[in-house]
Amino acid sequence: MVTLEDNWQELNDAEMHLYSRQILLDGWDIEAQEKLKLANVLIVGCGGIGCSSAELLARAGVGKITLIDADTIEISNLQRQIAYSAEDLGFYKADILAKRLQKINPHIQVHAITAKLDDSNAAELIAQQDLVLDGCDNFSTRYLVNRVCVQHQVALISASAIGFQGQLFMVEGDSACYECLFPKEDQANESLRCADSGVLTTTPNVMASLQAHHALIYLGLGIAALKQKLLLWDGLSLKQRLLAFEKDRNCPCCQVR
Ligand SMILES: [Zn+2]
Repeated sequence: MVTLEDNWQELNDAEMHLYSRQILLDGWDIEAQEKLKLANVLIVGCGGIGCSSAELLARAGVGKITLIDADTIEISNLQRQIAYSAEDLGFYKADILAKRLQKINPHIQVHAITAKLDDSNAAELIAQQDLVLDGCDNFSTRYLVNRVCVQHQVALISASAIGFQGQLFMVEGDSACYECLFPKEDQANESLRCADSGVLTTTPNVMASLQAHHALIYLGLGIAALKQKLLLWDGLSLKQRLLAFEKDRNCPCCQVR
């Protein structure tokens, strides 16, 4: 969790104005806002989920945002990836998104990495974060992010969206992890991606909003509402369900820790 002792940084007048509607909130005071300012958050994947949740965190005042994505912007991305326009085609998503966030909020620091998160860079990058938001589009990255977050005890909020459905859950402290919930051998099917299965414009943006919302209440107020809970959102019935899950004593990821 973010602590205020070591890096105390007060909000200046411009920031107080910018975040005034948030600071006015019952239950959200200047201290909560300052915790956001001190927070380091890594966004894995700058696609439909990442570009939307990153923008919400930037607007809310999360102080240091790191974006990692190796992809460039394609025309089929524009249907749902709200940070990008036709003029951005061919450029790196992380670069374009970083520029956008910096324009939206000049008071925060944004760092873009135009590479894939893999075994060579994951530990170094994740170990320095207060929170990781995963919105990647493939299982191998999702398992890697989960494993490294568990190893380094960094909180993780993971969101996904396929078709009309979305999922969201949190790994924090000694909680069950993604691999406890979805053992690797059951999830060998890499083809479950938007690229193959299709996705409605709004689905990843709903899940990104929920993910960013959870990130804010966690960073500002220390609330881990989805710890050991899987949120399932259905975009046809508009039903949302919360399923509790337990730690798997045989989970290889949790064993290593
Ligand atoms: Zn586990």
